[in-house]
Amino acid sequence: ADQSKIRNFSIIAHIDHGKSTLADRILELTETVADRDMQDQLLDSMELERERGITIKSQAVRVYFDADDGETYMFHLIDTPGHVDFTYEVSRSLQACEGALLVVDASQGVEAQTLANTYLAVDAGLEIIPCLNKIDLPGAEPERVGAEVADLLGEDADSILRISGKTGEGVEAVLNQLVKTVPAPGGDRDAPARALIFDSEFDQYRGVVAYIRVVDGVFKKGDKITAMAAGTEADVDELGIFSPQMVPINELGPGEVGYVITGIKDVMLLRVGDTITHRAQVRGQGEKLVPAQEPLPGYREIKPMVFCGLFPTDNAQYPDMRDALEKLSLNDAALAWEPETSDALGFGFRIGFLGLLHMDIVRERLEREYDLDLIATMPSVGFELELHDGTIQEIHSPSAYPDPTFIKEVREPYVKIHILTPTEYVGTTMELCQDKRGEHQGMQYISADRVQLTYDVPLGEIVLDFFDQLKSRTRGYASLDYEPIGLRASDLVKLDILLSGEPVDALSLLVHRTKAQEMGKKFTEKLKEKIPRQMFDVPIQAAIGGRILARETVKAYRKDVTAKLYGGDISRKRKLLEKQKAGKKRMKQVGRVEVPQEAFLAVLELG
Ligand code: GDP
Ligand code: MG
Repeated sequence: ADQSKIRNFSIIAHIDHGKSTLADRILELTETVADRDMQDQLLDSMELERERGITIKSQAVRVYFDADDGETYMFHLIDTPGHVDFTYEVSRSLQACEGALLVVDASQGVEAQTLANTYLAVDAGLEIIPCLNKIDLPGAEPERVGAEVADLLGEDADSILRISGKTGEGVEAVLNQLVKTVPAPGGDRDAPARALIFDSEFDQYRGVVAYIRVVDGVFKKGDKITAMAAGTEADVDELGIFSPQMVPINELGPGEVGYVITGIKDVMLLRVGDTITHRAQVRGQGEKLVPAQEPLPGYREIKPMVFCGLFPTDNAQYPDMRDALEKLSLNDAALAWEPETSDALGFGFRIGFLGLLHMDIVRERLEREYDLDLIATMPSVGFELELHDGTIQEIHSPSAYPDPTFIKEVREPYVKIHILTPTEYVGTTMELCQDKRGEHQGMQYISADRVQLTYDVPLGEIVLDFFDQLKSRTRGYASLDYEPIGLRASDLVKLDILLSGEPVDALSLLVHRTKAQEMGKKFTEKLKEKIPRQMFDVPIQAAIGGRILARETVKAYRKDVTAKLYGGDISRKRKLLEKQKAGKKRMKQVGRVEVPQEAFLAVLELG
């Protein structure tokens, strides 16, 4: 390919501002997808993405565009997720690009992820092309939003393009703009070959499919390659591009984006962030190839922020679960996991996630795509402990908390949060932040009626329900972004939950001392609602060490209730039985007590 006619760009935006829809229009306009195959948010190919209407995985498509200058350009466009949990997907995609199309919903304005993604693109040194989307909406305010965007980028408001991903208006102009302002990729065709693995996927039959961006040299089918960081050696079985389905081609040169299949099945051998180069060899008619000396800059390790235990309801599924996690990890570089054993739940895994949405999606994918039946325990953050003997311990599970008399200091992760809200909700938002042990850091006007608030907050206080509370306090008008800022010492205690006098490891949690009493009370009340009646009374207690803070009791069945079950008409009885059976699936026997799945997540519902 003619390198000067290549343009690589990502589409970035706050969630729901219209990235995937704009990508649809680009696929249509460039006739990449036949009309009859067109469907909304085409690149959201994962079942879960389509159902939830969100993008989880980045996609990389090649399209050809006939520009106003009479030339045909090869575009690689990468659609990215917008949710804060998936920032790492965005930052990886950006490294495969020279430009970023910044989409801002003209009826909403600049939001938290608009800022966060813009900063990522600036950091990656990309040319940013802003556009105001959804101008077809009656509520669109291109003047106001244009001023916000102009202010953010330091550009002239009049030069910002106005488009509609829905009607297609202005989309062609955006692509012409791209041709003009985004530079063609650099890279030397004659240098030793180097390509960055920026994403990957696991195919059951063909093994690892690595998404690559070639920087130098040319890769061809049959080449002997090596992944520099892992030291993996392999041969190129197939090279290709996404159109958007996989299409094999003969070679990939500098600036091109595509995939490589080598037959390697072990997900750890071809990892995202690694650099592929040639091994020394002679290709075709005596063309000598040599390995590159320096790998490309990789990616910073992503650290999981939230942890929870996932246990198969049927312990026989444990090996299948390990297998599934290995495969999912390839698609999801942010997933971390280690085996965990629980007295209550048996064998399972402690899994690290980027946030609650990520956790939700992983659990659902494991169940759907790998046919597992899982119980999830309460999410918690990771803590660092310094013991009196000087050792430092990292713990990801409250059940791993040692005897408090050994502990000198507990440290918990803090994040800097940025909240964008209309001015009228500033008061209630500040109240929420203070309630969550937040320390006020600053306040900045984005426009006359929109404010950005900045707080340092313990991550543990915001992972659970902060976002929901923020949304309800601001009628959905506030948006949130956060970044980790390290660990700080905190006065935390372990709250144990006892059922029938026995502590249940999977229900314990670490809380700030000042909140333990209130939390214990709410938690036992919530559990009382969740745990069904049994043949006997079940006392539920919350305790710190041996000190009981709160107590509730689930009363035993009364005789007449049981009797009622067997009276009445047949169909009703059948329904009840069916329902019980369905419910049973997600029950776990803990000592003598049957505990439903919901109980392990009850804390999520405590405000
Ligand atoms: P993403 O999260 O940024 O990928 O956003 P989507 O492309 O999934 O769009 C979010 C919602 O906005 C969908 O319901 C789209 O149909 C809608 N939408 C996207 N672009 C436009 C537009 O230009 N005009 C209108 N009216 N709706 C749009
Ligand atoms: Mg999308």
